[in-house]
Amino acid sequence: MSDHSDQLEALVADVRARAAELRDVDAIDALKTEVLGRKGGRLSHVMAGLAKIPKDEKAEFGRRANDAKREIEEALDRARQRVAGASLDEALSHRYDVTFPAIPPHTGGLHLLRHTLDAVVDFFRSRGFAILTGPEVEDEYHAFETLNIPADHPARDNMDTFYLPRGGLLRPHTSPMQIRAMLAHPPPIAVLAPGKVFRRDALDASHSFMFHQIEGLHVDRGITFGHLKGFATDLCRHLFGAARRTRFRPSYFQFTEPSAEVDVSCHACDGAGCRTCKGSGWLEMGGSGMVHPNVLRAAGYDPEAFTGWAWGLGLDRIAMLRHRIDDIRTFFENDLGFLEQFG
Ligand SMILES: [Zn+2]
Repeated sequence: MSDHSDQLEALVADVRARAAELRDVDAIDALKTEVLGRKGGRLSHVMAGLAKIPKDEKAEFGRRANDAKREIEEALDRARQRVAGASLDEALSHRYDVTFPAIPPHTGGLHLLRHTLDAVVDFFRSRGFAILTGPEVEDEYHAFETLNIPADHPARDNMDTFYLPRGGLLRPHTSPMQIRAMLAHPPPIAVLAPGKVFRRDALDASHSFMFHQIEGLHVDRGITFGHLKGFATDLCRHLFGAARRTRFRPSYFQFTEPSAEVDVSCHACDGAGCRTCKGSGWLEMGGSGMVHPNVLRAAGYDPEAFTGWAWGLGLDRIAMLRHRIDDIRTFFENDLGFLEQFG
């Protein structure tokens, strides 16, 4: 009895020890076949000794053998569960680590020029201006004639305009929107018209054949140059900070009289002179002036009753000044590394 019982104990202990070390299901199945196989299995080998056991001990031995079989099966089951759990853990650790930092999705953002335009539009919209857009392909009537630039006038050559083969042209300024706005609406009128303009300029750090202007127009009874100065000063403070000063330099444009270039004090050096302002302490914002009586007349407004101011701001230039960008080409090269700094 004791020999056979010891063999059963030893077999169970052996299976438990080996099953605890196994790492995959195939090895567990192999161990099961080795121990519990109907032919040649180690348990059946021990059981074969049953015939030699005294009759009164057979029942006890049979019970011990059944226990041993159950204990072996339990050890094999535990091994199976452990292996299954380990492979799940491994899968989770490789593919589903919920604590791993997520990769942020790649989303687009507004272009720097759009951000800058929004800042200008916010300023004017809060003061009651309407925002207009108009055609980039213009005719000479809106682009020149109604703006007091007759056909033989040299100012047309100075614009370096792109003329299209079948007539028409790419607008060299946003000023045609003054005429289109006034033709569509009786006075008073206060509009902002941003958009692309085109000139036959060679591409370099400060010139592009396509850039952006923001036309402003304000016509009513009693509008004076003082209104223009007030708007220009407030806008520059809105864009560049409360400490900014503006100055007006006499200039000449066909469609305004008097005309002035608007400068803002350099925010980089506060007017002392630096590289950004090329030592002058001032930065150019754009051309402006009081709307020429001929322009009002061309739009059907009475210049005896109504006056107004107008200007064309350079949007690209404002963005360059606000963000200290020294090359206009970077706006149009679609370099994400550059653009994402301002997204
Ligand atoms: Zn400066």
